[in-house]
Amino acid sequence: MSPQIPKNKQLSPSVTVGDLQKTLNGHKLSPDITSKTSNMKCDYCSSKIFTNDKVSQYLCDDVLNTKHPKAKYIKESNQFVQLATYCSSCTSELLFYPCRNYSEIRTVFKLSDSWDMINLTVTDVSLNSDGIPWKPKQLSEKISTISFEKSELITNDNLWGPENIYTIYNAALKNIAVEDIINYDGSINNKKLSTAKKEYENFRNIMGSKGFTENAFRDYVKNK
Ligand SMILES: [Zn+2]
Repeated sequence: MSPQIPKNKQLSPSVTVGDLQKTLNGHKLSPDITSKTSNMKCDYCSSKIFTNDKVSQYLCDDVLNTKHPKAKYIKESNQFVQLATYCSSCTSELLFYPCRNYSEIRTVFKLSDSWDMINLTVTDVSLNSDGIPWKPKQLSEKISTISFEKSELITNDNLWGPENIYTIYNAALKNIAVEDIINYDGSINNKKLSTAKKEYENFRNIMGSKGFTENAFRDYVKNK
């Protein structure tokens, strides 16, 4: 059973859960998907996504990559943008690690034969006044010791939302999870951070030897 989010719940001053479901239901998974549909990949584990799968998306009303050409428009227009798609294995009805100051949404749906999103339901909402007050950019910089913009994982053509930082570091780290490093007040546990830094350095060495390719990342995550 999906969590029941009332249709009249406001996601922004002008959009309700019902409005968003109506807007997205029946639309293609991504406007960019044409003939390359077989290359659709999960944004958590990099596995392929197939038609007829039950999958999910992560939507957010603001982005971390403020230098992206679309960033200003997104912030000003108060629009929700689709920042991640998860395969059936990684799909969760709940947001992974909701972040204060961002309005975040989970949608779960089935993919039709022609990549339409069907039976789409909003299964979790964390408005900007909710969630844990963690700082995704700062966390990325503390773990990787590289500025957010210069991190090999954070490429400039992606918009990035808080949940993307959560999944990418959880995919990279082996024995420690993002939720272990952040306390519930949003502060960082320095002891756990030092373990995470060592693990990330290992990850970086392995990935660096393979050129930080998408395939190398997928293999790394699969063989963790
Ligand atoms: Zn996946």
